[in-house]
Amino acid sequence: MKILSVNAGSSSLKFQLFLMPEEKVLISGLFERIGIDGSYTIKLNGEKVTKETLLANHEVAFNILMKELIDNNVVSSLDEIKAVGHRVVQGGDYYDKSVIIDDEVISRIEEMSVLAPLHNPAGLTGIKASMSVIKNAINVAVFDTAFHQTMPEENYVYALPYEWNKEYKIRKYGYHGTSHKYVSERINQILGRDNTRVITCHLGNGSSISAVKDGKCVNTSMGLTPTAGVIMGTRCGDVDATIITYMMDKLNMSTKEIENVMNKESGLLGISGVSNDSRDIVDGIENGNSRCLLAQKMLVNSIVSYIAKYYVELGGADAIVFTAGIGENSIVTRRDVINKLGALGIKLDEEANDIRSIERLITTSDSKVPCYVIPTNEELMIAKDSYNLIK
Ligand code: AMP
Repeated sequence: MKILSVNAGSSSLKFQLFLMPEEKVLISGLFERIGIDGSYTIKLNGEKVTKETLLANHEVAFNILMKELIDNNVVSSLDEIKAVGHRVVQGGDYYDKSVIIDDEVISRIEEMSVLAPLHNPAGLTGIKASMSVIKNAINVAVFDTAFHQTMPEENYVYALPYEWNKEYKIRKYGYHGTSHKYVSERINQILGRDNTRVITCHLGNGSSISAVKDGKCVNTSMGLTPTAGVIMGTRCGDVDATIITYMMDKLNMSTKEIENVMNKESGLLGISGVSNDSRDIVDGIENGNSRCLLAQKMLVNSIVSYIAKYYVELGGADAIVFTAGIGENSIVTRRDVINKLGALGIKLDEEANDIRSIERLITTSDSKVPCYVIPTNEELMIAKDSYNLIK
C-alpha cells in the first residue's frame, strides 16, 4: 500500500511516499518558496533533481507532485495512494493519537491555531490541498502534541491559578511528540522490552527532552508553546517569566515584539551574537570566541539539567537517546553532555561517539546508563500511524 507523508509549512511542503508495511521510501522531496516564486527538489533512486517553477499555492505544489509521481512511474494512478498523513503541530488536549481527518478534526485544528499561529494554519493548508488533489485518499492528522497527552496532571499544570488551566487551557502540551515516540519505540526494540524508563533528547534548532516510561510520555520540556525548556537555536527556553514584563516596560515593547525576541533572537543566537547553528558555535569556540563558549556551556547545562531531573523522576533510566540535528551530528555536544553526567555513573565511549547520523551505542559497557544515537524519522512515523489507522 502506498502512503504519502506530508509536512506542510507556510511556504513549504516536505513529502515522502512510502510503500507500507515494508517501510520503503519510493520518492521524497521538498517544495519551497510556495506563494513567493517556487522551486522543488525530488529524490528518486538516489538521484536528486531541482526544478524552478511558479508555485502559487500548496494546491499547485500537490498537482506538480502528482504529475511527477506519474511521470516517474512511481504510481500509475493517484488512486494507488491510499492515505496521506499530515504533520499537525497542535492538537490541544483533544487528541492523544493520530486520527482520520473529518470536519470536526479540521475545526479543532483551526481552534488550536491560537497556540500554534504559524504551524496549524500551514498544516491545514496542506490538508485542504491534499483533499482537493488526491480525491480518493484518506487523510490522517498526526499531532506533535499527541504523544505527550499521557503526562500526569502534576506534570502538565502550571503553578498559576488553577482556573487558567480549566478555563483557558493553559497547560504544558509538549511538542516533537512524533519524534519522541519514534525513538522511544526504537530504543525499546533495541532493549528488547517495553517496560523501560527512557530519556529522549530531540536536540535540533528546536529542542525538547522527554521522560518516557513503558513507552508512554510522563514529562517533557516544552510547554504551552515550543518556547519553553532547553536552550534552542533562537528560542530562550526556560527563563524567569517576570523578565518578560520587566523588559516590555523598559523597552516599551508589545507582546508580539517580546515574543519575537524570545523565539527568534534568543537561544544560541542571542547568547553568542554569532549564529543559531550549533556548528558555528563550535567553530567560534575553536576561534577563541568567548560568547560562543558561553552559549555552548549554557546549552550543555540546560540539557544536562533536564536529563538529571527526568532521571530522578523516572527513578533511574534504562537508556538515554540523542536524536535530531544536534543529537545525531554534534559529536562535541554529546561529549560535553555525557561527560557532565558522570555523577550518574554514565561513561562516554569517545571512539563510539565519533559518528554522525547513524544508530549506535556511544557509552562504555560499564556505563550505568547506556546512551544511544538514534536518527529520528518523523515521516516514517506519520506513514506508520496512517497505515495502522486505515489498514
Ligand atoms: P534540526 O532542527 O533537527 O534540523 O537541527 C539543526 C541543528 O543541527 C543545527 O544547530 C545544526 O548546527 C545541527 N547540525 C546539523 N548537522 C550537523 C553536523 N554535521 N555537526 C554538528 N551539528 C549539526
